[in-house]
Amino acid sequence: MTRKTNPIQTQKRASQTRIVPFTQRATHLFLPKPALSFTIFRKDIDYLGGKTMQSFAKKIITLTLSVLFICLAAAANDDNNVGSKKVPLKDRPSDVKGAAENQALMVGVSEVNITPPVGTPMAGGFQPRFSIGVQDPLFVKAIVLESEGKRLAYVILDLIALGREDGDRCVEKASRLSGIPADSIVWACTHTHTGPYTGPIFGLEESGIDKQWLASLPDAFARAVAEADTRKKPASMSVMRSFVVGIADNRRITFKNGRAINTWNLAAAGEDLGQSVGSEGPVDPELGILAFDDTKGRLLAVLFQYTLHTNLNFGKYLSADYPGVVYAKLRERFGPNTVTLFVPGACANINSWGYSYRQVGETISAAIIAKLDKRKPIAGAVKLASLKRDIDIEYRDLSADQEERIKAAFFAEKDRDVFRRELEVMRKQGFTKARTVLQAWRIGDVGFASLPGELFVEWGLKIKRESPFTWTFPVTLAGDYQGYLVTEEAWKAGGYESLIARSAKPAPAAVAEMSDAALAMLNEIYAPAK
Ligand SMILES: [Zn+2]
Repeated sequence: MTRKTNPIQTQKRASQTRIVPFTQRATHLFLPKPALSFTIFRKDIDYLGGKTMQSFAKKIITLTLSVLFICLAAAANDDNNVGSKKVPLKDRPSDVKGAAENQALMVGVSEVNITPPVGTPMAGGFQPRFSIGVQDPLFVKAIVLESEGKRLAYVILDLIALGREDGDRCVEKASRLSGIPADSIVWACTHTHTGPYTGPIFGLEESGIDKQWLASLPDAFARAVAEADTRKKPASMSVMRSFVVGIADNRRITFKNGRAINTWNLAAAGEDLGQSVGSEGPVDPELGILAFDDTKGRLLAVLFQYTLHTNLNFGKYLSADYPGVVYAKLRERFGPNTVTLFVPGACANINSWGYSYRQVGETISAAIIAKLDKRKPIAGAVKLASLKRDIDIEYRDLSADQEERIKAAFFAEKDRDVFRRELEVMRKQGFTKARTVLQAWRIGDVGFASLPGELFVEWGLKIKRESPFTWTFPVTLAGDYQGYLVTEEAWKAGGYESLIARSAKPAPAAVAEMSDAALAMLNEIYAPAK
């Protein structure tokens, strides 16, 4: 079901992309050096159309200085190769080629197009938006790793979310086709808001979902896993991280009266709320990168984690949003065989304010490429492990005063009915508790904890802080979809994520239990009982 991108639309959109001079936004000053350099470089390329020799010479000097700046910035940033085993210099391979020879790691990748037919309603808003074309295709992508007799598959879908039933169907089929145990197949969704609905939510019920397309998903998922498995070849792994600040904001602003308002509703809230006392919580600027090369030093796969909502495009065309830009940029740099897989971080309350999906994608890509250009494979065996466990959770109190919460969240009148209806549906269908799933897994010295919903950044940072692994990446929208996984503070302060809806079901106490259980599972796979 490949759909062609509309070149006219793509071109139009590309030309609308504005590179914001860093002097225009204070936040740009905090961009990491490679990203900043990249911006300047782009501006200089544009300058080369100058007419006089004098200005041309000036531009050449500027360009040279920019290139020099990029080199210096990249060098300055090369200080944090991660992986708890920092490889002693003498053991480091002189280059990526040949690095796999003393390792038994095998890696394969595959991607299958899952773009639905044009016209499919797109999820992510309070009402469906009907797609009128394809900006960039949606994929299900799989990486299969094998080491010390253990296989592990990570699968990422360019979808807003996926419920457990559909996810389990995908996993069962993939397991049957590849022979990889179901417990060792982990999946997550990118959370693109320019993709199809996969379940009833907000303005679209069961009848509006493209059932035929949804029924084709397990085949595509299983094919991706099985293909990745058969394509496995000896590989080496590099683990790195960078920081990208300035493009992500905590989207909840708190007020002196204890309320929190989402950034997009601040204008509606006006000045009556009195003094604002800042962002409710932090952001997580860490950019995690795992890279896998074959024995010839060709980059097979890149896993990257960033903590930012995938809701920046929000246009009329189907698109993978900013991760799609990263996929394309890495291919541009490393060739068509490099498959990039997004690992979504605890992004529930993190939005980008004032940046386009292209700017965000390009900034993240530049930071990833700067690190990849200096990747150094780790030595020794890469330990793989995975643990999947069901957990019973309580939902939010359906008798809570939703009307008061709706009013305090400052949603427009037309949107308030959406939440009234959500509560009605949940009461009617008896949404009081659920059995959902958690997963902990490791690739070498990097631990991952997968949670079944949109995890608040505070929880993600807690998991990172308390995990026994030196490097841990919380993975959201994984294994199931239970909606927003808020903190107790956020529940009390109100706002969008704290309204009761099918997009926000678990009680805050249940999220604390999930976080504790995920940490316990990380501990189990870190030091398994003999
Ligand atoms: Zn979301």
